[in-house]
Amino acid sequence: MPDSLGARLAEPLFGSMTIIGVGLIGSSIARAVRRQNIARSLVLCDRSSEVLDRARALRLGDGYDLSCASAVVDADIVILCAPVGANSAIAEEIGGHLRAKAIVSDVGSVKSAVIEAVLPFLPESVRLVPAHPVAGTEQSGPEAGFSTLFLNRWCILTPPSKVDEEAVDLVRRLWTSMGSNVEVMTPQHHDLVLAITSHVPHLIAYNIVGTAADLEQVTQSEVIKFSAGGFRDFTRIAASDPTMWRDVFLHNKDAVLEMLGRFTEDLTALQRMIRRGDGDGLFDLFTRTRAIRRGIVDLGQETRAPDFGRRALPVDDGEDTAN
Ligand code: NAP
Repeated sequence: MPDSLGARLAEPLFGSMTIIGVGLIGSSIARAVRRQNIARSLVLCDRSSEVLDRARALRLGDGYDLSCASAVVDADIVILCAPVGANSAIAEEIGGHLRAKAIVSDVGSVKSAVIEAVLPFLPESVRLVPAHPVAGTEQSGPEAGFSTLFLNRWCILTPPSKVDEEAVDLVRRLWTSMGSNVEVMTPQHHDLVLAITSHVPHLIAYNIVGTAADLEQVTQSEVIKFSAGGFRDFTRIAASDPTMWRDVFLHNKDAVLEMLGRFTEDLTALQRMIRRGDGDGLFDLFTRTRAIRRGIVDLGQETRAPDFGRRALPVDDGEDTAN
C-alpha cells in the first residue's frame, strides 16, 4: 500500500480546474491537484471572501473568485465542494456559463439527490460525473485540508448512463492521481451503502453524545472527566460539521430511514439478550463484529494501533502548495 502520493504527472489532466467551496474537501483537492500537477491552472471559488483570503494566504490556487458564474467560464472541469444542500443553487448559477463539453463533478456524501439537484441546470453538452471520496475528518475550513487525505481511500463515481466514457475516465484518473482507489456504482446503491457505513453511525454518535449531555443524574463535567474510550470516539464523530450533516440527512432520507429501521430492530434484539441474560448471544455478536474490524484493518483502511480515532492528522509539509 503506497504511503505517499508518488510522482507528479508529466502532463496535467486538465487545462483549467475550478473548485467551488474551499473547505476541508475542496482545499484537500486543491493541495493534491497542485502537488500532483493535475491541472495547469486552478481557480478557487467560495461564497465567503474571508475563506478566499485564507485560501490565498495558504497559496492553494492560481485564481480566487467570489462569483461561481465567472469562476467557471474557462474551466475544463468544475468540482462542487460545498455542502450538498447548496448544489442546486450553485448549478443554477453556473449552468449558463459553462464551456461546451466541460465536466462537472462533485464530492457530495449523497448521490441521487445531488444528481437530481444539479442535472436539470446543465446544458446538454456538459458532462456530469458525480463522485464521493470516502475520506474525511471532523474538521472544516481551508486550513483543515491536507494533500494526502484521499491516499489509499475509496472514491465512488456514480455517472449517469448517458455520460461519455472519456469524461468518466478523466474523473477516474483525477482521483487515482490523488492516491484513491476508484469504484463505479449506481447512485441508489451508493446511498444505501453509505447510509449504513457512514450516515447512520454519525446519527448514532450525535444521539449518544446528545443523550449523555442531557442526563440529569450526571453532570456535564462528569461526562467530560470520565469520558471513556468508547464515548470519546463518539464525541469525535459528533463534532462533525453541522451544516454538512444536516444536509446529508435531509438528502438521503429514504436510505437512512431504511437502515435506521434495521438498526432499531437489532438494538431491540440486543436489549432482549441483556434482559434475558443471554451471554452466548452477546458473545456471538461481539465476535462477529470484531471480525469486521479486523477485515477493515486487513484491507488497509485502518491501522492495528489501539488509539482508533485519536491519531494526529498528517501535517502538510509546505511543498504541497508551492507549485
Ligand atoms: P466545509 O469544510 O464546511 O467546506 C464547505 C465550504 O463551502 C465552506 O467554505 C462554505 O462556506 C462553502 N460554501 C457553502 N455554500 C456555498 C455556496 N453556495 N457557494 C460557494 N461556496 C459555498 O465542508 P467539507 O467537509 O469540505 O464538505 C464539503 C462537501 O464534501 C460536502 O458536500 C460533503 O458532503 C462532502 N464530503 C465531506 C466529507 C467530510 O468528512 N467532511 C467527506 C466526503 C465528502 P461557509 O463556511 O461560508 O458556509
